[in-house]
Amino acid sequence: MAFDLVPPSDSRHSTLQKGFNLRWPKGNVQGESSPDGANLIYLCHTPQDIIDAAAQALAMPNGRITVRSGGHCYEGFVSNVMPNAPGEALSILDVGQMNQVAYDPNGQIGSVLVPDSPYRYSVRLEPGCQNWDTSVALYKLAGKALPSGSCYSVGLGGHICGGGYGLLSRKYGLVCDWLDGVDILVADATGTGLEPVHVSRDSSDSDELDLFAACCGAGGGQFGIITSYYFKALPPAPREVLWLPLEWDLNELDRTKLGGLLDAYQLWFASHQADPSTWGLATKLEMRHANTGNVTLGIHYVDKDGQLDDLAPFDDFVSSMLAAVGGSARESLLPFHVVHQPSGMNKGRHITSLRTAHDAARRLDWLYATQSLNGSGDNQRGRYKSAYQKGAFTLKVKDAIWNTMKWPDPAQYLTQSLIQIQSFGGRINEMEAPILAQTSAAQRSSYLKWQPQCYWHSADDAVDQAHANWIRGLFKAAFSTGVPDDAQFEGCYINYPDLDMTYIGGDPANAKNPSWYGIFFPNPLIESRLRRTKQRWDPLNVFRNEMSVPLP
Ligand SMILES: Cc1cc2nc3c(=O)[nH]c(=O)nc-3n(C[C@H](O)[C@H](O)[C@H](O)COP(=O)(O)OP(=O)(O)OC[C@H]3O[C@@H](n4cnc5c(N)ncnc54)[C@H](O)[C@@H]3O)c2cc1C
Repeated sequence: MAFDLVPPSDSRHSTLQKGFNLRWPKGNVQGESSPDGANLIYLCHTPQDIIDAAAQALAMPNGRITVRSGGHCYEGFVSNVMPNAPGEALSILDVGQMNQVAYDPNGQIGSVLVPDSPYRYSVRLEPGCQNWDTSVALYKLAGKALPSGSCYSVGLGGHICGGGYGLLSRKYGLVCDWLDGVDILVADATGTGLEPVHVSRDSSDSDELDLFAACCGAGGGQFGIITSYYFKALPPAPREVLWLPLEWDLNELDRTKLGGLLDAYQLWFASHQADPSTWGLATKLEMRHANTGNVTLGIHYVDKDGQLDDLAPFDDFVSSMLAAVGGSARESLLPFHVVHQPSGMNKGRHITSLRTAHDAARRLDWLYATQSLNGSGDNQRGRYKSAYQKGAFTLKVKDAIWNTMKWPDPAQYLTQSLIQIQSFGGRINEMEAPILAQTSAAQRSSYLKWQPQCYWHSADDAVDQAHANWIRGLFKAAFSTGVPDDAQFEGCYINYPDLDMTYIGGDPANAKNPSWYGIFFPNPLIESRLRRTKQRWDPLNVFRNEMSVPLP
């Protein structure tokens, strides 16, 4: 089937210019196509469609192509014309319909894009596969799981090459740690077309190995268009999980109590890193702005055998958290995907002991827990930041969190604003040396991962600005340079791209920070390899966005 071209006259155009985050394309008005967005959208069903579409789109005067799989990019890298590029003709190559899953227990799957490539695999996943469909398929076909994110609609196209992290990552590592091969269409020598390449973890060619490493965590849209991900093996899907969501009203906590909870939270993960039997514990701590006024802690647990026979780590964690806040919490009745609910609603049971915690905890089949714990949420406008935390919470950071939760907001705009801090580390930090040799996911010493986030519906400038001020305010107050590079932190996650981080002090009011790339890749070997790989595989910068690998 040939590609399906969506021009501005097509009734789907204004919809398909957009992805999940309704901030993009910039300045879009509901129901109308945006002049700051893509002129053409090519819906591609095969690699040949992509090659044909790219040739046509790049032949246009000032033609630039971007690729979309699941459409969940936090920034407008897929949807927006580049700033300072007057007359740019942007085309999105949408590969979301390339969503096949293939499994061969005998491990004889070969490259689709480069059929004479010698490498063989057990699993092939196309970039348009979404998290939930993939979980179901891998579970039913093979009893396997990807340690991917919990939001059902995220596409593997961007997710895996940016790292890929979820509730099974302390237990099994990042998705990209399991990757063994990639089919990718890279720019040809003239920059006017694409050519097929297969890169494997087993390749002996250093350029191919570099490109493979770039697909293991450097982020999408910068080296080429991935048409298949290959795996030799994947971890077994757990049988069951225990799920316990705890909740505290903000008015039950004060600065000291919340600080105590944060200290205990960080300490638990840091002090249990050496014990693999605890790595099946994954958590989401969400501290909401006072307009909403609650703190929730979701606890997801599976034991070392993928079962629920050994609950000791779960018990130890729950006891430690209860003790840190003076002995009690409530069972949270908030559905997982709800980021905001007025305080005072849906009060759950009091949890004051391990016995009451066990009463409230739900024992769920892993597959159905994965479905229930989906956190994609609504299509609306969103802003995000990220930080990896390897050390303890300092007083400065705890004060910043508290003050940001109490941020003055007389207009009541901040109704879906939260500071999320998830568990990290475990197997991610103990990956085998050959995997680490070929990874671009640089952060391997952290125990916690931050994702402050806020959502809103109105496209009004004042509302946009209020959310920008809130989320920037947290980083300005928490970090001495405005970006998470203090000694206790390890930079940011490329799959949560944030243009603010490219400016000095994390503030677009300042000049560009020439060293911003190192904030996302704080390992000089990885950073320099990525720069070299870009130079080798895309010297004409065909695949560029505002945060793509800087060329010299
Ligand atoms: C609701 C939501 C929940 C999320 N939850 C998690 C989570 O739990 N864990 C986690 O790790 N991340 C999570 N993320 C972040 C997510 O991993 C990234 O946004 C990811 O890049 C999305 O991929 P996509 O294909 O859906 O998005 P797209 O917008 O299609 O692509 C994102 C980037 O990847 C590039 N890209 C897309 N397809 C390809 C391809 N085939 N080849 C090369 N480059 C490509 C794009 O050009 C773009 O730069 C979440 C995001 C959202 C919006």
